[in-house]
Amino acid sequence: MTQTVIVLGAGMVGTCTAWHLRQRGHEVVLIDAKPPGQETSFGNAGLIQREAAEPYPFPLEAAKLWSVATGQGFDIAWRARALLRIAPRLLSYAWHSAPGRHARLAPHYGRLIQACIFEHEALIESSQAHDLVGRDGYRKIYRTQAALDRAGADALRIAERWGVDNRIEDADALARAEPALRQRLAGAIWHASTWSVRDPGALVQSYARDFERLGGTFLQARATALQPQGGHWQVQTSQGPVQAAQVVVALGPWSTDLIEPLAYRPPLFVKRGYHQHYDGPHGLRLPIFDAEKGYLLVPMRAGLRLTTGAELALRDDPPQASQLPGAERCARALLELGAPLAQPPWMGSRPCMVDMLPVMGPAPRHRGLWFNFGHGHQGFTLGPVAGRLLAELISGEPPFLDPAPYAAQRFGP
Ligand SMILES: Cc1cc2nc3c(=O)[nH]c(=O)nc-3n(C[C@H](O)[C@H](O)[C@H](O)COP(=O)(O)OP(=O)(O)OC[C@H]3O[C@@H](n4cnc5c(N)ncnc54)[C@H](O)[C@@H]3O)c2cc1C
Repeated sequence: MTQTVIVLGAGMVGTCTAWHLRQRGHEVVLIDAKPPGQETSFGNAGLIQREAAEPYPFPLEAAKLWSVATGQGFDIAWRARALLRIAPRLLSYAWHSAPGRHARLAPHYGRLIQACIFEHEALIESSQAHDLVGRDGYRKIYRTQAALDRAGADALRIAERWGVDNRIEDADALARAEPALRQRLAGAIWHASTWSVRDPGALVQSYARDFERLGGTFLQARATALQPQGGHWQVQTSQGPVQAAQVVVALGPWSTDLIEPLAYRPPLFVKRGYHQHYDGPHGLRLPIFDAEKGYLLVPMRAGLRLTTGAELALRDDPPQASQLPGAERCARALLELGAPLAQPPWMGSRPCMVDMLPVMGPAPRHRGLWFNFGHGHQGFTLGPVAGRLLAELISGEPPFLDPAPYAAQRFGP
């Protein structure tokens, strides 16, 4: 039976959820305070990461912890005040990251990632967004042979387990593949199955336009409250109340704001990140991740985008892009970077769960309320997969994969 459904949040996750619901004939209103794809789904690195079959664990090795604690690297930064507030969540994240536990939950992540290319393809085709997408992969580059050997062994293990095209390149092969690199490095892993998007926000907008073409409604309004009312859901918005039989919360890092008043407190925390564009004639052919330094360089429509690693801070703390100068220094030594294009740098928040799995499914205590958030480092990759799963569950169809590992119940009623 088709229903009226409100989807809150028009990032990659909410937009894909709305699209899949509309495909199944539901009356769908997609609500966002901004036009689609203007927040986290706008400023990311734009990789559709078919290779990311295992979620990022908390770094537990002593040397890495020491380097983070003493602020030596610039892949992970932290704010002391925030650490006190999020310590319980970080401890839980560290607990779930212990090798045995990580190995048990990683396949649930891998099964989602495995579907990402196929599911994006359906939306790219329907929205005719082919020109935004590069299909030649990206490279993780390594400065030392030891790091390349370690990561290479892992990449080959994942390639075999998950059917991914990961190839090891030595120093010569890397120099041939990316002749603009000024330094001779140990080599690279070429993740050839991964896709890269030249303008991530534009891809979300393209999917949202397709949703409207299919008959869906987009409402630009800030949602301020969510209440059950006589067998329906009422969302208070800056444009007035909106009602529907079902409501999906897909607000990325803001998802807990509207469900905490209903006594849901799923352990969401954020890893913030920054980007800056440069105008230089960089000559890069594919995106590169400078793996031992922890930043990405991605050729985009707007220029060469440098994205930083994780900043452990509160979502609403003022921006403090302390990782950017170090990353920029390394990038300048590698490439003709040119001048920064816009100031200040963009900032966004990866919505992360302590057990590294997104929350996708019904709310435990309220009929007609659904969750779709917490996709962490790969929400841009996983949007279409998450959207399909939610739409199947809401429509009462057999889901294409077992939803149990992602259920909100795992954190209690
Ligand atoms: C630096 C960086 C690099 C990244 N690189 C990648 C990558 O290469 N590949 C990848 O897969 N992932 C990447 N990610 C992660 C990815 O960007 C996120 O996981 C993903 O964008 C989350 O999507 P979302 O739809 O859940 O959230 P969002 O895109 O943040 O969408 C949430 C929406 O909710 C809206 N909203 C919030 N509150 C309200 C309200 N009260 N009323 C109405 N609307 C509201 C916001 O306006 C927003 O549009 C990266 C993240 C960062 C920070």
